[in-house]
Amino acid sequence: MKTCVECGHDNVVGVFFCEDCGTPFYQSGGGGGSGAVTLQTIDANTRQLLRKNFEGTTLLSPEQDVLLHFPKNPEPVILPPLKQVVFGRSTKDHNTNPHFDLTEYGAYRYGVSRLHAVIQREEEQLVLVDLRSTNGTYLNGERLAPHESRIVRNGDQISFGKLLMYVYFQ
Ligand SMILES: [Zn+2]
Repeated sequence: MKTCVECGHDNVVGVFFCEDCGTPFYQSGGGGGSGAVTLQTIDANTRQLLRKNFEGTTLLSPEQDVLLHFPKNPEPVILPPLKQVVFGRSTKDHNTNPHFDLTEYGAYRYGVSRLHAVIQREEEQLVLVDLRSTNGTYLNGERLAPHESRIVRNGDQISFGKLLMYVYFQ
């Protein structure tokens, strides 16, 4: 656990930003002491900017697991070991259901489409593609165009409609 000094949220180990309020945990320089970011002076817009400019690695080797973390659930889950994983909301009246059903994470309430987006492993990278979802797929707050694909970095924030999820490479 990594407790946020700003809001007290208990984050999973390995996060770069507080998943609740966005406060960065890394410090510039690394010399310690006076080089630390003064958290109290960072407002919401600056946090968003820091996250946008933060570049986690894109390199994902085949033996590495990908962890998915939904802020309201304490335990991260492992991305199923498929080349392509479709995220969405399963329904009784359709035969084609997603590989990863977001129903238990509040999919309906947060506006997740039946087949919302796909995450695929390509070479040594992780790629996110929107599947013409109704409420959009966002990577670090930026909406993807329908069928647009984007490379996902370690620590990135993905949003299916309004359902937030963080991605970590193990
Ligand atoms: Zn926080």
